[in-house]
Amino acid sequence: MSKKVVKKEATPAPAEEPKKEEKKEEVKPQKVEKPKAVKKKKKEKGIHALYKVENDKATRLRPTCERCGPGYFMANHHDRYTCGHCGFTRYKQSEK
Ligand SMILES: [Zn+2]
Repeated sequence: MSKKVVKKEATPAPAEEPKKEEKKEEVKPQKVEKPKAVKKKKKEKGIHALYKVENDKATRLRPTCERCGPGYFMANHHDRYTCGHCGFTRYKQSEK
């Protein structure tokens, strides 16, 4: 009595080549000595930036705050002027 042991032969899987994992060589960033960083100086806009001198006449480029009076310039935004002193906002009249 011989039991035929039918071994299920596993169908040979198509020879799958093991994916060659390319060893990624860790590239260590080389220490590059930076040249002495030149500190960029923030361009500070002084109050002079708000004036334009033309023909010996200083013209103000920004409107002054109506509340605070002359001497307080309003910040120029794309659609409005605001006063940093009192928070007054004046919208630009959009002309179409
Ligand atoms: Zn103001």
